[in-house]
Amino acid sequence: MRVAIIGGGVAGLAAAYELELARAAGGPGGAVEYTLFEAGDRLGGVVCSEGVNGAVLERGPDSFLTEKPAAAELCRELGLGSELVASNDGARKTYIVVKNRLVALPDGLMFLVPTKLIPTLTTRLFGLGTKIRMGLELLHAPRRPEHGDEAVATLVERHYGMEAVERLADPLLSGIFGGDASQLSARAVLPRLVEMENEYGSLTRGMLAAHRKMRAKAKALNSAGNENRQPGAARGVFTALRGGMQQLVDALQARLEAGRVRLGTAVSGLEPVDGGWMVRARGVAEFYDFVIVATPAWAAAVLLRGVDAELCGELEQIPYSSSITVNLVYDENRLGQLPDGFGFLVPASEGRAMLACTFVHRKFLGRTPVGKVVLRAFLGGVKHEALLAETDGALVGTVRRELKEILGDSVVGLGIEPEHTQVSRWRRAMAQYAVGHLERVGRIGARVAGLPGLRLVGNAYDGIGISDCIRLGRNAARELIAASESARQPVG
Ligand SMILES: Cc1cc2nc3c(=O)[nH]c(=O)nc-3n(C[C@H](O)[C@H](O)[C@H](O)COP(=O)(O)OP(=O)(O)OC[C@H]3O[C@@H](n4cnc5c(N)ncnc54)[C@H](O)[C@@H]3O)c2cc1C
Repeated sequence: MRVAIIGGGVAGLAAAYELELARAAGGPGGAVEYTLFEAGDRLGGVVCSEGVNGAVLERGPDSFLTEKPAAAELCRELGLGSELVASNDGARKTYIVVKNRLVALPDGLMFLVPTKLIPTLTTRLFGLGTKIRMGLELLHAPRRPEHGDEAVATLVERHYGMEAVERLADPLLSGIFGGDASQLSARAVLPRLVEMENEYGSLTRGMLAAHRKMRAKAKALNSAGNENRQPGAARGVFTALRGGMQQLVDALQARLEAGRVRLGTAVSGLEPVDGGWMVRARGVAEFYDFVIVATPAWAAAVLLRGVDAELCGELEQIPYSSSITVNLVYDENRLGQLPDGFGFLVPASEGRAMLACTFVHRKFLGRTPVGKVVLRAFLGGVKHEALLAETDGALVGTVRRELKEILGDSVVGLGIEPEHTQVSRWRRAMAQYAVGHLERVGRIGARVAGLPGLRLVGNAYDGIGISDCIRLGRNAARELIAASESARQPVG
């Protein structure tokens, strides 16, 4: 079987790795041949880190969610198990900027759902009206499940009011997706909350019940002797790699045969022919039995334009946001003491360019030299696309000014020049799961099913995180290997 993989981000790399395993193993499916086409001059897509004077600076993602296992599993398979580091959850505290001041998220908040009475009553994040609504929310009756999809903002407002949307849902979602709570799909982005609403009515009651079940399960696992726990496994909410997420990219690349990876080679078109696909790149067309398209959906739409107009239309309809990360490295003695915790999120209502700022040296210990501070700001998102056109100097200037306005009263050294700055722009890199996303992905799946030998993977479809992309990439490759093997089975 000959497979073309188009796009060398984590999704495409994970697919290539799975095919490499099958190729190396030989096996009943016969020879596995694959080629990974990557338009850029490096692999990894948005996953990209650099070491600067002993500090790990992440240009893109800094970690993956521990509860989604695919990324950590892959790291262990690649021999990176000892490099996995857990987030420093003992120091986990996140703030929301309210009128230029940091207000800590109340204890007991589970994603968007308040579960503890006293912290919810005493927090300065919400006014009295919202607190009363949060109490009355316990009385919500279960919702009939047949209602359609809706925006996250609509769901949250129905339960906790508009202030909870502005100070909680919007900043959290723009921090994760660069997205807008009034556009993102509740079913695609917060499926557990939708299920809880259908079953319990009250999200708070639903979350408390889920938490009780989780605790009982953890207890049962503990008393069974932790059989399912990986030795030395990282157990923070987030998991990262000691030397940066680039370690994963490098380890994957090292496993692939160099001759099978074509950097600087953008695929310009696909054409189904004779039970396979012609893949055109650099003016040359080559035949492959299977194609895994691991590009953003908008790029997949260009490739499939002449193949299926309806599929193309659906892919084009998936919106994307762009993001910018700005890393600033300081000497801790000169900067002064930052507030406790991992960093802060900025609601849109604050009217700032910054969406969030992570105190990197606190979130993961051992990735920043002692005595140094790394502040990582996120900008961009659907509401600030124009920022991408600004120069690095202007973006660093904006971040420094906003940091001073938000933290300047307590962090005296924010006026000093950072020792190092790094700016990264990611254009149209984050798919936005807009209202109706699951239905759209269903229609895309149905069209793809009519095009044998084609698979679409990447962050546009079934999960935006690194683990999701790895899972989708590996699964697509496994499906194709299985399809090839069953096609070779003698009939009867
Ligand atoms: C700033 C930022 C921070 C993030 N933080 C986190 C985080 O902390 N944790 C987490 O889990 N997730 C995070 N994410 C999300 C996650 O990193 C991405 O969703 C995921 O890495 C996307 O992988 P991908 O392979 O689908 O796409 P990409 O990384 O976008 O890769 C697609 C590749 O396809 C190539 N390509 C496009 N067109 C063609 C063509 N015609 N021919 C050949 N090649 C082509 C591109 O050059 C690119 O290399 C973050 C994302 C960003 C941008």
